[in-house]
Amino acid sequence: MIETRGLRHTYPGAEPLPFDDVAVPQGGSLLLRGASGSGKSTWLALAAGLLTPQAGDMVVAGQAVAALRAGERDRWRARCIGFLPQKLFLSEALSVADNLALVYFASGQAVDRVAIARALDALGLGALAARKPAQLSGGQAQRVALARALLLRPQVLLVDEPTASLDDAACAAALDLLQQGAEQTGATLVIATHDARVVQRLPNTRTLVLRAATSETLA
Ligand code: ADP
Ligand code: MG
Repeated sequence: MIETRGLRHTYPGAEPLPFDDVAVPQGGSLLLRGASGSGKSTWLALAAGLLTPQAGDMVVAGQAVAALRAGERDRWRARCIGFLPQKLFLSEALSVADNLALVYFASGQAVDRVAIARALDALGLGALAARKPAQLSGGQAQRVALARALLLRPQVLLVDEPTASLDDAACAAALDLLQQGAEQTGATLVIATHDARVVQRLPNTRTLVLRAATSETLA
């Protein structure tokens, strides 16, 4: 679940970014929409505890994120949050399987090779486990990042612009995989997007539309 109240973030020297309140039940979905620069990636970073808001509260997976100290926050994120960023941040030096193994180090758990193999198989990536990221197509790399995000069965799956560089067929396939992955793990799914195709394909999904702050709306 995710609940926000009076949430606002301000980057140094910039206009504040205010966010309307939202409540998403556990296992529910949310589309974060808005033009480029409206604050979608910022909202996701707040939900993941990568940024601390200047005002307001955000409860994610039952936890008031801002109340966690830095070290606790990293562990909480590793255990409770699956994050599929727009830039995938796969380590080029490591195999696909070892990229997933890093998740266990971040969460302070012993590496579970069986779970890694299962997570890769679930996304049709079993044959690619020994490859390096440079040897993957863009779609394959995105699926590896999704497998990594789902590995510890997170309570919340945060996804940033998953379809930006995909053609229509790949866009549909990616959305199906995200929904299946969230369903199978019971995760709350948040997709940040400015892609109209996503809205068309998920017409009944709860939506938060972000508007870039202007001096006028702040007056
Ligand atoms: P979106 O994901 O909707 O495109 P962002 O959350 O990336 O929007 O950015 C919202 C606003 O905050 C933009 O004006 C952007 O330039 C600004 N911004 C984003 N990250 C930073 C940062 N690290 N420092 C300062 N300003 C930032
Ligand atoms: Mg963004």
